[in-house]
Amino acid sequence: MALKTFRHGVHPSANKFTKDVPLEDFPVPDKVYISLSQHIGAPAKPVVNVGDYVYEGQMVGEAGGFVSAPVFSSVSGMVKSIVKLPTAIGQMVDHIEIENDFKYDKVSLPKLVNPSKEEILQRVKDAGIVGMGGATFPTHVKLAPKDPVDVLIINGAECEPYITCDYRLFLEHANEVVEGTKLLMKALGVDKAYIGIENNKPEAIKVMREAANGGVEIVPLKVKYPQGAEKQIIYAITKRVVPAGGLPAQVGCVVSNTHTAYSVAKAVFDGEPLYKRAMTVSGDGVEKTGNFWVRGGIPFSFIYETLRGEVPECMSNKVINGGPMMGFAQADLRPVTAKGTSSLLFLSHKMFSEFEPTQCINCGRCINHCPMNLVPRDMERAVIKEDFARAEKLGVMNCIECGSCAFICPAKRPLVQAIRLAKKEIRSKGRK
Ligand code: SF4
Ligand code: SF4
Repeated sequence: MALKTFRHGVHPSANKFTKDVPLEDFPVPDKVYISLSQHIGAPAKPVVNVGDYVYEGQMVGEAGGFVSAPVFSSVSGMVKSIVKLPTAIGQMVDHIEIENDFKYDKVSLPKLVNPSKEEILQRVKDAGIVGMGGATFPTHVKLAPKDPVDVLIINGAECEPYITCDYRLFLEHANEVVEGTKLLMKALGVDKAYIGIENNKPEAIKVMREAANGGVEIVPLKVKYPQGAEKQIIYAITKRVVPAGGLPAQVGCVVSNTHTAYSVAKAVFDGEPLYKRAMTVSGDGVEKTGNFWVRGGIPFSFIYETLRGEVPECMSNKVINGGPMMGFAQADLRPVTAKGTSSLLFLSHKMFSEFEPTQCINCGRCINHCPMNLVPRDMERAVIKEDFARAEKLGVMNCIECGSCAFICPAKRPLVQAIRLAKKEIRSKGRK
């Protein structure tokens, strides 16, 4: 039987070098910096003061609105200050600096047994659960769709090269992922959930098939990028097409991430709010790579110093938060781990190529491979002419910024940068 997939897309090298490395606890520094903006939406508001003692798992920032989420201390210790630091996408936001006393005195939420739909929804909100595949959209908002839904899809494609933390969750915590999926199903009132896993992870498919029950079905997917993009995985599994500019709920679907499902199970059954997560560190710019349980608020510089070993500093020429296709290159290592930090890549020049863009040769490859049926070449041309109205007409707002066009372009045109610029201009014009 043909494997399920979507139209177009590309095939970057998987580079899943860390797939066989089990999750282990990452060391914790003397100080952590808990970001108040670990999600899409309004930043959290601090609820602690300088000089306060806080426990591991204690809320230190409350949700700043409906589309927002609380944040929690990842250690016990003293609040030292509230400082502005850059996030991994370069925004300066407030962080709560906490001096770690290494006692890990902990507070939890009450454990729930056989919770009702309302109790699950409340717990997801109280535990600060957000989409952990990188989007960081507050999950309690996603669980209240405006349209009726009948299908939940758990995105376990992990199609970005290098990243293997969801794969390790499948192998090491299959039951929690299944139980979290069932909790999400109950919260949504659906009786069918599909967990999509790319077919190059046969061990994960096997383990998850053994663990699956209660309306949860494991679906092998063709290995292709961006198989894990929301609209693409919906089409691959259900053949439903989300309309341009529309939301998954319009075709009866909600998509959540593997780690999100795991974190929902932890929040409900163990009373653990979201302040640590599984993360992959990979690349040849550090000596030790692997999959780690990392607490929130750990500076990227500490991670680099801990793992680089004998690798000379100049070897790590590029640091990427996320994967190489959709991740963000880091200007410096001050950003800290947060709810959406699925991976950090430390790459030397050997692992990535830097090309000067040359003139577009009209080969049409970017158009043929775009999973959203857009015309990246023409959108870039419109941006160069500062004709943002034309870029909008060409559908630039429907671009999912997957990077397939730039990946496949022989002229190495900076297509995604142009698209991001157009979106920013169009949004700011809309605000005005
Ligand atoms: S135009 Fe957007 S959606 Fe299409 S390939 Fe490029 S980045 Fe992906
Ligand atoms: S892939 Fe690159 S060179 Fe080819 S049409 Fe698109 S922008 Fe031009």
